[in-house]
Amino acid sequence: MSKDPEGKRNRLGIMGGTFDPIHYGHLVAAEMARCEFDLSTVLFIPSGTPPHKNSQDVSAADLRYEMVALAIKDNPAFDLSALEVERKGLSYTVETLRILRRTWPEHELYFITGTDALLEIFSWREAEEILTMIQFIGAARPGFDASDFLLKVEQEHPETQEKIHYLEVPALAISSTDIRLRVRHGQPIRYLLPEPVRIFIQQHGLYVTE
Ligand code: NAP
Repeated sequence: MSKDPEGKRNRLGIMGGTFDPIHYGHLVAAEMARCEFDLSTVLFIPSGTPPHKNSQDVSAADLRYEMVALAIKDNPAFDLSALEVERKGLSYTVETLRILRRTWPEHELYFITGTDALLEIFSWREAEEILTMIQFIGAARPGFDASDFLLKVEQEHPETQEKIHYLEVPALAISSTDIRLRVRHGQPIRYLLPEPVRIFIQQHGLYVTE
């Protein structure tokens, strides 16, 4: 079904991230975005090979994918895509969005990601094309100051202003970097992420060494 009973276009949330590992901050951000922007589904798309990272610094894509599957399985409004994990080469967002545009032609697409990633959007491959296809939701950590970025958008890319939204997500005080460091230093990570994901990390010996 592509339209709701009032005839509005349905909205699909696309949750893009490396998710190394996924944690409660991501899940709360996705759920808040779903409610705030009236998204019918949030599709999680773990990056295969992130274009802006050294691939040796990132856990294997199939492991990150499995952790996302474990984390979202009890929410019927969340779904998972292997689009980037299965694609060869670097995971350019524009290529993913072209496929999603064809798959969901009637839906409005909302790409949800962290504000740190959003700050770099204009350097992404075919950024202008991306901003014709989607609305952006930047999930911000508490205390994030968007004023410099908003000024830059207003001055340099005014046509995109209405397509970029912010969502402050207090739970994003949790970060994947912090979780990896905690594991390496033998500190607890329970309650920072779903328990099945914590057990998966333990069973696969993830993040123990640098
Ligand atoms: P990142 O640089 O690892 O993360 C930037 C910040 O945003 C981190 O603080 C991260 O926190 C947070 N974050 C990332 N994804 C999030 C999400 N979905 N919700 C809330 N916070 C999130 O960014 P990344 O994860 O590798 O990339 C984010 C998305 O941008 C991916 O879909 C990626 O493919 C896309 N991207 C595309 C291009 C391109 O096409 N050229 C370039 C860069 C990024 P945590 O570390 O706690 O997750």
